[in-house]
Amino acid sequence: MAAEFLPPSGFRPSDARKRIGPILRALSRAYPHARTALKYRTPFELLIATILSAQSTDETVNRVTPALFERYPDAAAMSKASPEEIEPLIRPTGFFRQKAKAIVGCAKALTERFGGEVPRRMADLVELPGVARKTANVVLANCCPRPQSDHGIFVDTHVRRTSQRLALTGQDDPDRIEQDLTKLVPESKWAEFPHQLVFLGRGPCRARNPAHEKCPLLEWCPTGRYALRARPKGRPSRSRR
Ligand code: SF4
Repeated sequence: MAAEFLPPSGFRPSDARKRIGPILRALSRAYPHARTALKYRTPFELLIATILSAQSTDETVNRVTPALFERYPDAAAMSKASPEEIEPLIRPTGFFRQKAKAIVGCAKALTERFGGEVPRRMADLVELPGVARKTANVVLANCCPRPQSDHGIFVDTHVRRTSQRLALTGQDDPDRIEQDLTKLVPESKWAEFPHQLVFLGRGPCRARNPAHEKCPLLEWCPTGRYALRARPKGRPSRSRR
């Protein structure tokens, strides 16, 4: 049953707790196979691809990684490269000089401290060059759905926007949004839930002109319901889909 609806950004923990069950079920119906769009074969490849995806798109990263991983298939091989050798291979992803330094540094740290393997603990992952909590959560969610400790829910631009619009958080900082979401969402859903929000954010809940009427979450979304109620009668939606 629909809960009491709030104006946009009207996050209230008790209200969010009432709505989270139906929201999770609707997300599972709408996006049953949500997972990262990054292409990878090993945890090492996913880690490097996720670092490259900062300020870029998954499509762009997927275009450059086949050649990158053909030449540097594991941490040992990449740790011996110089950033200058890597730069032309990853240039289309943007910020390629910083990213080349980061992924070579990351490969060196993996080789020296973890025998070339990607660690399965958040505390170890965030110590690697170029790896912040969001990247670590992506790797843990996809490669290690039941990590040993200290994992969470990754918060990217789509997760941030959709969780705010759904009034599942009242925060703006990604780490604080993650804290709100991990209190609401059962741990068994932490791997798939953010990927489902990414699908939602790339679909009806895009940044501009969200398509509230076509959204599978509308019944439980204060922002969408408020927007439709506030729209003058007879005025068509500006949505393109
Ligand atoms: S109803 Fe609108 S604001 Fe709410 S999740 Fe759907 S598209 Fe986003």
